[in-house]
Amino acid sequence: MKSRYPEDKLTIIGGGIIGVLEAYFAYLDAQKAGKKIRVTINERNKNISDTTTSHIVPSLTPDEILAVVPRGQELVKKLRILFSEPGGIRIDDVEGINNSDVAEKFIKQVQQYSNDEQGHQARTKILLELGKMSMNLWQHIYDNADPRLKKILEESNFNPCREPNTNGEALHDGYRIDLIYNVPNAKAKANSMKADYEELGYTSCKILSPKEVIARDPFLADFCKNNSIIDEFGERQWKDDSVALWRPGGCIDTQTLLPKLCDYLKDIMGKYTNESGQSKDCFQMKFERNVVGVSYNPESENLEINGLRFFGKEPKIHKHQYEHSDYVFCPGEAVGTLKKLGFNEPAYSGFAGASLMLNIPIPTKQLVEQYSKFNHCMEVHQEGVVLAWQARFRENKIFIGVAGTKAFYSDQRPHKDQAFAKDRNLLQLNMINDVLPEFISLALGRDTSGKKLTIEDLSHLEKLGIAERWVGTRSVAYDGFPTLGSVYKKDCKITNARTTTHLGSGGGSFSLASIFVSRSTLNKDQTEQDKFTQDVLRYGSSNRKFI
Ligand SMILES: Cc1cc2nc3c(=O)[nH]c(=O)nc-3n(C[C@H](O)[C@H](O)[C@H](O)COP(=O)(O)OP(=O)(O)OC[C@H]3O[C@@H](n4cnc5c(N)ncnc54)[C@H](O)[C@@H]3O)c2cc1C
Repeated sequence: MKSRYPEDKLTIIGGGIIGVLEAYFAYLDAQKAGKKIRVTINERNKNISDTTTSHIVPSLTPDEILAVVPRGQELVKKLRILFSEPGGIRIDDVEGINNSDVAEKFIKQVQQYSNDEQGHQARTKILLELGKMSMNLWQHIYDNADPRLKKILEESNFNPCREPNTNGEALHDGYRIDLIYNVPNAKAKANSMKADYEELGYTSCKILSPKEVIARDPFLADFCKNNSIIDEFGERQWKDDSVALWRPGGCIDTQTLLPKLCDYLKDIMGKYTNESGQSKDCFQMKFERNVVGVSYNPESENLEINGLRFFGKEPKIHKHQYEHSDYVFCPGEAVGTLKKLGFNEPAYSGFAGASLMLNIPIPTKQLVEQYSKFNHCMEVHQEGVVLAWQARFRENKIFIGVAGTKAFYSDQRPHKDQAFAKDRNLLQLNMINDVLPEFISLALGRDTSGKKLTIEDLSHLEKLGIAERWVGTRSVAYDGFPTLGSVYKKDCKITNARTTTHLGSGGGSFSLASIFVSRSTLNKDQTEQDKFTQDVLRYGSSNRKFI
């Protein structure tokens, strides 16, 4: 039987959210061009559920990416303060973090970069525009999805971040309630956030009174009561250190999305016939393939990749000649991978973050009924801590997931039994108890309202199978900008490879726009790139450095 290969092949390194969405975009473009494409994702983990976004509850906002890298002297100052103190990011119980070469290079570049205030302002503006573009793309994908993909997005708790379609007062219509508490002059913080979103063109932001919060989300009644006082007219008013902001913001449950999206891609991309006459899937996700090297086509005048080397396995060189065979590197949390593979990589570091997920059984049918409408997403802010938050009735249980907090980890991988994760997970449990004491009381079988919970409480919830703790890495470059577009070996461009990585704290939010722009580098006609795309590619170039 004659082999029938697709015209094009895309090989992806890294099966995180970026790798999977790269595959989806490749499929969309091939479909538009009336072609078939073969896509293989090489992932070093054993399962898709091991990847970063399977453990967090991504908030979707246009400024999600801004939070991680402190600027210049501020980074140096924060690196002196232990992670558990206000404003601190220092880790002391893990070797190889603070004085490593990677750390020194990163700190130096951050400091040098901070001298260029004008350049920083220009980058931040472009970054926010990229964020807004990504918010629009999430909505665009939903609007244009076929019924199966639409259902997948709905099952994955997709809530868009956009201007509301209705009167703008209902949850799940582009806006959400963010809570701020234990923050001196909380209103000033909320007003500054509001001004930022208005600058981006979102017009419906406002501070909500406790009464308005309860009307929109009755499950926040305990929080409102505990953080407000009754004024002389009998109305609840926020205490000075607390407030609620109605703001553009959505979320996506990536734990649910990623495996379903991979199954969808496998079905929709169809099959091809190889030279042995076997029918094969055009989309494949291959696990336990840790890419440790690349090979170059010896017959090409240019630098052109023709194969990969996997840890512990024989090198894999493409035998079939595709019209186009491209590679995209999406190693995310594995900071330094580009460099290890022999490519240029801007000064990089990992910033650890912790997450806590609770699945609380509901003991009675009556309560199941009462909680069946429970569903919100938000961010909860305390001094120096912001938690992305998704909570809802899921599979007859109360699901509450929170993720956030940060510490400088250089190129080391954090572990959940280290001090940072243990301490931050306990803080997260206490924050959940501050906002939703009703559910934590249910989980612990006692009234926890207004109480401080201990590490023993957290361990107890883990033993009951209610709590799942996790810690992972946000990968960043020194300027906090994602790295995307062409890949270089000693400043020499590789003709068939690009990268989409270093998405820091915003890889869920910024994924779509970053991939969209990154893909434009391998389009043959680059003269058609608009000014915005050119700016993003220049700022995000993988051979950038600040000298
Ligand atoms: C605690 C925490 C909270 C966060 N909250 C949010 C949020 O609310 N909103 C938001 O938008 N973002 C959030 N983020 C950021 C987001 O998770 C990341 O930006 C996103 O995961 C980046 O996606 P990625 O695919 O680039 O990297 P990853 O998700 O890290 O995936 C990269 C994959 O590549 C694989 N890999 C690496 N090297 C190799 C190799 N050599 N060979 C094969 N495979 C390899 C890895 O195993 C991994 O599975 C948060 C992150 C953390 C840690």
